[in-house]
Amino acid sequence: MRIGVNHGSLAERMLFSYGDTPEGMVESALEFLKICESLDFRNLVISMKASRVPVMLAAYRLMVKRMDELGMDYPLHLGVTEAGDGEYGRIKSTAGIATLLAEGIGDTIRVSLTEAPEKEIPVCYSILQALGMRKTMVEYVACPSCGRTLFNLEEVLHKVREATKHLTGLDIAVMGCIVNGPGEMADADYGYVGKQAGYIALYRGRDEIKRVPEDQGVEELINLIKADGRWVEP
Ligand code: SF4
Repeated sequence: MRIGVNHGSLAERMLFSYGDTPEGMVESALEFLKICESLDFRNLVISMKASRVPVMLAAYRLMVKRMDELGMDYPLHLGVTEAGDGEYGRIKSTAGIATLLAEGIGDTIRVSLTEAPEKEIPVCYSILQALGMRKTMVEYVACPSCGRTLFNLEEVLHKVREATKHLTGLDIAVMGCIVNGPGEMADADYGYVGKQAGYIALYRGRDEIKRVPEDQGVEELINLIKADGRWVEP
């Protein structure tokens, strides 16, 4: 069952009392909940979506507080509605959904983009992976590059990603230099680190395993993962 807080005479009365505010959304939702409970219907998931991130954040937080006060414990469905498309639509959705998830609020999520529905799913997975809540992809750690960088980081990261993106569950780091790279690999399972001009070093965890010419780096990384029995064919 879906409770729409924007429709119907009850919602209109709430809008009149509270204005179009998080307080109004929450009180309206609570009124609907009380009606459902009076009919002994409790199979509910509550959504407090709004198209503005600060409004939806405030509405969900207040909903949690009010439900606590009233002894209610309904699951919450998170989303930023009408988030738009492209990069900003994804950033807006992530800002709202991830902030609440990181606070321990939320049970289900939906990223709403003005794009084909299947484009929404990877964003949901990425949010959950970035927060450490689900691991459905390889986690890549890569430095931003600087004057010390010993190879074309963007190109190498792309190559490493293309070769390994099917290996669910691994953390792989691509770092531009040996000076800061190994210390900043964030405990990755494998590291590809600039060693000296034309050479890279491959790491397993914190240990340097071998030095190889840069043009063999990706192939040797795959060989190392294979030798550890952690490779699967794409
Ligand atoms: S790891 Fe090395 S190359 Fe990358 S940003 Fe840090 S210092 Fe620069």
